[in-house]
Amino acid sequence: MARRYLRQRAEMGERELHGRAGRAKGASSDSDSDAGEAMRLFCESIADCQKCRLAKERTQVVCGSGNAKAGLMFVGEGPGREEDKTGQPFVGAAGKLLTQIIEAGLQLRRDDVYITNIVKCRPPDNRNPMPDEIVACHPYLLRQIEIVKPKVICALGKVAAQTFLQSDEPIGKLRGRVHPYRDIKLIATYHPAALLRNAALKRPTWEDMKLLRKEYDGVEL
Ligand code: SF4
Repeated sequence: MARRYLRQRAEMGERELHGRAGRAKGASSDSDSDAGEAMRLFCESIADCQKCRLAKERTQVVCGSGNAKAGLMFVGEGPGREEDKTGQPFVGAAGKLLTQIIEAGLQLRRDDVYITNIVKCRPPDNRNPMPDEIVACHPYLLRQIEIVKPKVICALGKVAAQTFLQSDEPIGKLRGRVHPYRDIKLIATYHPAALLRNAALKRPTWEDMKLLRKEYDGVEL
């Protein structure tokens, strides 16, 4: 069942990208325009989205935040309670830890990376997003990737890693190496919320962050 949804996602993604490529003919591309403005318009365009059941209980769509021309993009699974309240991704306890990882660990500024989620609306009771919700929201993620054009994507947690890699493997098997994703390097690691529950995951996550920084700009941490 999960594999069927993953296949659907992949097919939908291809259609979405090809469709956009077609529409782009004769019009200015994102590289010609301002990526920040393109992202702002994109986020505005999905603010009232009703494509899946998550629309019913959300307070607001949480589109993403950060530098829309970043070389590095972090993708989690979905907004939590604080994110739903504020409209910003990764602002709760897990978000604070992600900020520490980016700033103290990777020695980058949070404002210099782009941060978003697989689904843009909060799943009730912080459950995992369901496969059909992921499918419904996937074109939005693809559009964001198209605008940002990151060099490296970091998939945070099982849901994000499995979605990108079309895999049913556990995160422990998907982390620790570089995966090709289109022409982007993809590195999966544990979700910061998992680190808050299990401190033993901090060491492998740090190994992943060292790999990520090296792949991003060659810096050895
Ligand atoms: S999760 Fe995505 S597809 Fe579903 S309602 Fe929110 S923005 Fe729309």
